[in-house]
Amino acid sequence: MKLIVGAHTDTGRVRDGNEDVKLVDPRMGLYAVADGMGGHQAGEVASATAIEALRAAVSNGAPIREAITKANEAVVERAAGDEGLRGMGTTMTAATLAAGGTLLIGHVGDSRAYLVRDGELSQVTKDHSLVGEMVQGGELTPEQAEVHPQRSVITRALGIERGVEVDIYPLELDEGDRVLLCSDGLTDMLRTDEIAAILQRESDPQKAANTLVDAANKAGGEDNITVVILDVVADDSSAGAAPAVAAGPVEAEEAPTPSPSRRERRRGLPTMRRVVRALVWVLPVLLVLALGFGAVGWYARRTYFVDIDHARVTVFKGVPGGLLGWDPTLEERTTIKVSDLTEAERTDIEGGKRFSSHEKADAFVDRLDQKIEDREAAAASTTTTTTTTVPPPPTPPA
Ligand code: MN
Repeated sequence: MKLIVGAHTDTGRVRDGNEDVKLVDPRMGLYAVADGMGGHQAGEVASATAIEALRAAVSNGAPIREAITKANEAVVERAAGDEGLRGMGTTMTAATLAAGGTLLIGHVGDSRAYLVRDGELSQVTKDHSLVGEMVQGGELTPEQAEVHPQRSVITRALGIERGVEVDIYPLELDEGDRVLLCSDGLTDMLRTDEIAAILQRESDPQKAANTLVDAANKAGGEDNITVVILDVVADDSSAGAAPAVAAGPVEAEEAPTPSPSRRERRRGLPTMRRVVRALVWVLPVLLVLALGFGAVGWYARRTYFVDIDHARVTVFKGVPGGLLGWDPTLEERTTIKVSDLTEAERTDIEGGKRFSSHEKADAFVDRLDQKIEDREAAAASTTTTTTTTVPPPPTPPA
């Protein structure tokens, strides 16, 4: 069996920075979500430090518990060496695919792992949080925990002290299983049945990841949101997000590697002919894939879209949600606040309104700006009493 992966992380609609980190490394079979905490930029440092140390430890052959222990030490040391980072910490929910199709999930904190099997969503990890422990002790129902004011208080994290207790959940994977790793920015915004419905509806893991993040943002996006989805498929499966791309490079590595002339001398002509035949077949396929990939990249990088980000109308370069690894980049955050927009304008923009050039996106923003100014001017000049108080329009720089 193998895993097809979809992943997405987003700042959300309230926070200024993203303290979550996702890790997707199919070659190592390593997948993780870390949610950092700490003042100023410390949360971002904590989660990034932990993920980097985790990756280094696993690539050196460490099993998951040891790798998370190393990640803890790395954060503790980093915090000890810098006054501004004192007190930072991070959650860690990490999964490695072991031989025989066992997924080993290591867990500290309140980021979660879920399993979808036979259409049923179940939570694999137990939260190391105040309310999580109260639920486990029977003092709260899961429903009460979801709305508890102290639901974000965690009782275990990386970076707090040397030595950390890591929970390990071994999961015997079956074909058709779907595993979700996520930060609390998802689970605090969406009910379990809402998450289950999206995971059920979106069969493509990347689309499912994007849709979950979008839904959490629509529900408020009060925290950073991170989602990693692992779909378990048969090794020879042609199902999945990008089967052609997945099959291409494998063929390419296997067919041309041995030098044809050496093999010909050793094994005679039939092998040579096989290699040539393979090359004849593989090269055009590779060419088409390369052209296709290049075209997608070209398309993904030359288009623009306008979306709402950090409660501002924002211009991005790229395609909403990204395309085959080409993530959109922020081009310009305008001064137009989401609160300046009418319901219709907001609906029009939300999720990404696409334009074929930067100029067209700019022109759209200018028109929008003008409309808002006109509205504000009309509201200011009208003598009838209005209940809304409109601040004077900011004078745009020349
Ligand atoms: Mn969080």
